[in-house]
Amino acid sequence: MSYNLNDKIKNLVSYTPDTNKYRIRLDANESFITPDIEVWQQIINAVNSVAINRYPDPLATDLCQAFADYYGIISDNVTAANGSDELLFIISCCFANSGDVIMNAAPDFSMYDFYAHLAECKVISYKKSCDLEINADDIIKQCNANNAKILIFSNPCNPTSQGISASDMIKIIDNVDALVVADEAYMDFDDNSILKSVNQFDNLIVLRTCSKMIGLAAARVGFAVANKKITSAIRACKSPYNVNSFSQAIATTVLKNKAYLDSCKSKIIEARNSLTDSIKLICEETGWTLYPTKANFLFVKPDNSESVFEFLKNEGILIRNMGAYLRITVGNDQENTELIEALKRFIAGGAL
Ligand SMILES: *Cc1c(COP(=O)(O)O)cnc(C)c1O
Repeated sequence: MSYNLNDKIKNLVSYTPDTNKYRIRLDANESFITPDIEVWQQIINAVNSVAINRYPDPLATDLCQAFADYYGIISDNVTAANGSDELLFIISCCFANSGDVIMNAAPDFSMYDFYAHLAECKVISYKKSCDLEINADDIIKQCNANNAKILIFSNPCNPTSQGISASDMIKIIDNVDALVVADEAYMDFDDNSILKSVNQFDNLIVLRTCSKMIGLAAARVGFAVANKKITSAIRACKSPYNVNSFSQAIATTVLKNKAYLDSCKSKIIEARNSLTDSIKLICEETGWTLYPTKANFLFVKPDNSESVFEFLKNEGILIRNMGAYLRITVGNDQENTELIEALKRFIAGGAL
């Protein structure tokens, strides 16, 4: 009597973010905004009316409608999921056969590799140039030359904070012989969405999430937007009651509150621009590189990322250390000020 773990899982390690306590967390690109009393009350009312003994609406009808209304699209094109992570899992496992090539871009969101591996697909990465940009013609060429079944990347990109234009994205979709998965987790902070174009394409899925600008990371709600044929396939592949009733109620309420979401968006963009100005000054002093950002985080290349990261950690501030780079989520004014003060202490300490 025995069971040996199969090859694809025997060396897997679980995703374990740093769960220590920090004074300030700027490591996961969440929103720094929590709902005001009025919005909280709307959320509480919605949660109060959940039928706790009943299964959730399997198609999250109201939620998809609220999402579609906020973004000016139709809900027939929308599928809700337990975070866009669930959709990455479904797309990798169901829209490719084992052995197929899934092409992604590097550097990009690490979960693409993870799910492609579980789907027993072959991963080939398009390597971004040293300015961290994607060249549309190059990625088209590589995608077709490798006979990729799926091409997936984030736009704007986590972690580089850069993005391609909507017209480049459309050129890519038009010219690759693959399903394009455009992960627009941060597109609320930029203006190059192709959400409204999904019905023009047979090979496109756009992913969105409530975890970033919308400020509901705790609720785990994501969306796939695609033409009706692909949407039917996604709905057929998902588990029936994938989004719990509480999350449906909460996210529906918030998505219906356009004034609140618009104010969240402008507050985050304002905080980002002001943090960008402060970090720019630090970069001028130190010679570090700050990349222009289209998201709610900054991507920085210091001389020694490890020493900056450790210094901040000792000060109770957690950011992300990614190879030679640092990724810093935009926080509220006080968090950003404390971050800048800590960086100034680091520089003054001569630790460069
Ligand atoms: C944060 C993030 C997501 C969101 O994932 P959820 O499962 O919806 O929280 C998706 N893609 C990228 C690139 C992200 O950075």
